[in-house]
Amino acid sequence: MPVAAGAPAPALRLPHHLQAQLAQGVGRRCQAYRTRFAPSPTGPLHRGNLRTALLSWLEARLRGGEWLLRIDDLDTPRNRLGAEAAILDDLRWLGLDWDGPVVRQSAHRGVYATVLSALRRAGHLYPCRCSRRLLADVSAPHGALAVYPGYCRDRAPLWGPQDGRLPSWRLRLQPGVLGWQERGCPCGRQDGPTAVGDVVLRRADGVVAYHLATAVDELLMGISEVVRGDDLWPSTGAQVAVMAALGFPAPAYAHVPLWRDPRGERLSKREGAEGLAGLRSLGLDAPAVIGCLAASLELVPAGSRLSARELVASLSLQALDTCMHPKRAEGEKV
Ligand code: GLU
Repeated sequence: MPVAAGAPAPALRLPHHLQAQLAQGVGRRCQAYRTRFAPSPTGPLHRGNLRTALLSWLEARLRGGEWLLRIDDLDTPRNRLGAEAAILDDLRWLGLDWDGPVVRQSAHRGVYATVLSALRRAGHLYPCRCSRRLLADVSAPHGALAVYPGYCRDRAPLWGPQDGRLPSWRLRLQPGVLGWQERGCPCGRQDGPTAVGDVVLRRADGVVAYHLATAVDELLMGISEVVRGDDLWPSTGAQVAVMAALGFPAPAYAHVPLWRDPRGERLSKREGAEGLAGLRSLGLDAPAVIGCLAASLELVPAGSRLSARELVASLSLQALDTCMHPKRAEGEKV
């Protein structure tokens, strides 16, 4: 039901069982350290992804916590056949064992649909019919990510098809700063209107957007700290906003440095960021690969050979913490 302009929005109402599941997930945060690795099955993991996986695994193991594996497989057109199996094989081969069953976002579609309906009924969403073309035309030059200018925010909320096309569903972001607990900073923060904007939570083709699925899953899986590459820092405000709209606090975050090439560019799948298969074909075995990933973090001397378990045994949490974040000023965007 559309919410009339000026009328107070109805409270968010999730079905009892889902509300209880989310609350239970959040309650688990303080019982044990829980983090996750969440690759998309769009291709093989490259050295950079593997290093982020290793860091989050080390953190979980050193803290006696849990390392969960989630496959972010909602964007079906981008999924590659066999990629998930290859990811699981690579992690096993490296000795990065995960706790509990593999979680697949595709198995949570019903939950996301329920959450989206509840957000919509409570007035947190609005339909948007702006085409990609229009948004590309108004976006900043040089491909810089532009914040949605809000063209459809105050239009009549018509959710049905028009000219054969359904709208995307955008979050009506509340004004203000979005803050979260960030490792190595007094806090992480993004200004809502200028740095986040009204993000899409359900695409016009019906695919549930990354921000919605990720926010719901961090809650459901009881994640206490999200350890992921610092390329995802700009996504954090939107995910924190979704959790706030659902009435839950966000977990802590540790955005870790990406592996960059000597020119400071992030590794792309093309240039030498090949999967483990490439490293194996050079004759490297798992201890050599773990040694190489750990040496790139200055955790061990170059040329070291050791298993993931041996690496845990040789490390302190403090040593790990030092390589997890470069020194940052408060609120600095990475
Ligand atoms: N699935 C996302 C990716 O592979 C990562 C999601 C996350 O860690 O939040 O880039």
